[in-house]
Amino acid sequence: MNLGIEGKRALVCASSKGLGRGCAVALAEAGVDLVMNARGAEALETTAEEIRTAHGVDVTTVAADITSDDGREKVLAACGTIDILVNNAGGPPPGMWQDWERDDFIAALDANMLAPIALIRALVPDMMERGWGRVVNITSQSVRAPIGVLGLSNSARTGLTGYVAGTSRQVAPAGVTINNLLPGVHATDRAVFLDGGVAKAEGITPEEARTRREATIPARRYGTPQEFGATCAFLCSQHAGFIVGQNILLDGGATNLTM
Ligand code: NAP
Repeated sequence: MNLGIEGKRALVCASSKGLGRGCAVALAEAGVDLVMNARGAEALETTAEEIRTAHGVDVTTVAADITSDDGREKVLAACGTIDILVNNAGGPPPGMWQDWERDDFIAALDANMLAPIALIRALVPDMMERGWGRVVNITSQSVRAPIGVLGLSNSARTGLTGYVAGTSRQVAPAGVTINNLLPGVHATDRAVFLDGGVAKAEGITPEEARTRREATIPARRYGTPQEFGATCAFLCSQHAGFIVGQNILLDGGATNLTM
């Protein structure tokens, strides 16, 4: 399928690895030029060079913390005209409900709610003026069904979801869509980190932790960054202009819901 977005320009945040990288690769496959971001310059430049070589698109890299004001300023200064925004950042640490103080909540809100909102506020007005734009926020399955040990994620991402629900309906008349992609468990460094935590807590190997977790997913496996990226690219395509304010679960059936 031709996604109809060749020559567009996308900012993909937190994209040197994992799901952000999957989105960047899929957009590049569709002929989209990229501004890519991560904190670590080395992995970011390696990924960018792989994408340039494989897909021949223009890739600008900005090593910066997207959750900080300074970092976003640096990224926005390098952006130029942006048609597609993919919001992403690292997830908050796990813990139990009594563990977190005000500062922990503020950090989670900054990373997983206020940073994407700041970028939407910075880039969407220009998309609206030009009559076309796409925003995809990488959130989590924890928005549909809470994950006990990820209380910071449950809280901050639900805040973003509420903002998107209202805002997406206000910008849609100008040809801009905003939607959320909700990953379940995907085979990235984040999943390895979480499996490592379970293994340590339960005295088992990380492989055993993964096998146990896979058994809880109807698809009996972890998702891949490639299939996640392909869904993101479709949401950014010309074909997805009627999809507005949706929360799309990519979780192999793990969240037991009728709708
Ligand atoms: P990952 O494999 O750990 O990759 C994270 C990427 O984001 C890296 O490129 C990292 O590079 C970059 N990054 C992290 N913090 C950043 C920051 N403050 N500023 C700029 N770049 C940053 O993680 P992932 O699995 O792709 O997860 C992506 C998001 O989806 C996270 O919010 C995660 O919580 C959420 N999620 C993931 C899963 C899953 O199973 N994988 C499930 C549900 C939700 P640097 O470290 O160099 O900055």
